[in-house]
Amino acid sequence: EPMSSRIISFRPAAQLWRRLPLQCKRHSNRGCLLNRLHASLDPRQLMGVYWDELRQLLGMEGLRWEHQGLCQQAQLGLQQGWLRVYRLFLGDQDLGELALSRSAPLQERELLLLEQTLDLLIQPLHNAVLYQQALAAALRDPLTGLGNRAAFEQALLQELELACRHGMPLSLALLDIDHFKEINDNHGHLAGDAVLTHVAAAIRGQARQSDLLFRYAGDEFVILMRHTDRLGACTVAERIRRAVERQPFSHAERELPVRLSIGVATADPRESADGLFERADRALLAAKRSGRNRIHWAEQLAAECRLHA
Ligand code: GH3
Ligand code: MG
Repeated sequence: EPMSSRIISFRPAAQLWRRLPLQCKRHSNRGCLLNRLHASLDPRQLMGVYWDELRQLLGMEGLRWEHQGLCQQAQLGLQQGWLRVYRLFLGDQDLGELALSRSAPLQERELLLLEQTLDLLIQPLHNAVLYQQALAAALRDPLTGLGNRAAFEQALLQELELACRHGMPLSLALLDIDHFKEINDNHGHLAGDAVLTHVAAAIRGQARQSDLLFRYAGDEFVILMRHTDRLGACTVAERIRRAVERQPFSHAERELPVRLSIGVATADPRESADGLFERADRALLAAKRSGRNRIHWAEQLAAECRLHA
């Protein structure tokens, strides 16, 4: 049977599970594969361990694993020659797609061996995938699918450090829905939730690929903009403000106006995370005070302060 890119659905058979301890013994001269696979909850590390085994055991030349839901992948060696692609499952849990390749086709005995090692991989990979899903869920806002406040705080520290190291500008926009409480009070909490989803979609639609998007709290969103100076950040912010203003939002067959106020700040060299956030927050407050449905940037405030001093 020639190897092809035909996808083979792989679910471990119950009787194979009972043979696992024997499988483990087979590999004991190279240390127990199963133990080594169980040592990590990081799928990429796990694939590294599995890859070492496959190379020694069968002379495999390429491994590629990809999990769409997790947006994670691992690529080892070179994809060439004969290819065999497995869709891995444990129960209903999707464990991703594994493509294995070798210049020479696999003999039947080798194929059996390969699938026995796959059987060993399944349970540790299942643990790793569940763990990664839990990690991702802990950083995501369930309503909008954007990053949550914890994710933002992590990302802000990381991005500030990167920006500082590479001498690149980093900007932060803080967005707050105008009179959101009124929408909740007049049309109910569900309508309020729908507005939040609507605004999140508009932000996603207008932001760039490199922008990091978060729902910070209640009706407040944050955009972290890499490699972006004040002018770039204000352009993005203004595009979002205008898109929200123009895109009609209907609830119970009535059109409700949705508006945003936005504060923008660009990081000063070696500025702290709190410092940058506070400046954006003050700019947001200024946007609210001066009439809402507008953007303010932090430097603009500084200039006004100097003007009044
Ligand atoms: P302002 O223009 O000054 O921002 O006025 P506002 O009414 O938007 O005031 P504020 O930002 O303080 O209101 C936030 C409201 O958001 C209060 C809270 O009840 C509501 N809220 C917070 N989280 C949620 C949520 O998950 N769903 C809904 N529907 N409402 C929420
Ligand atoms: Mg608000």
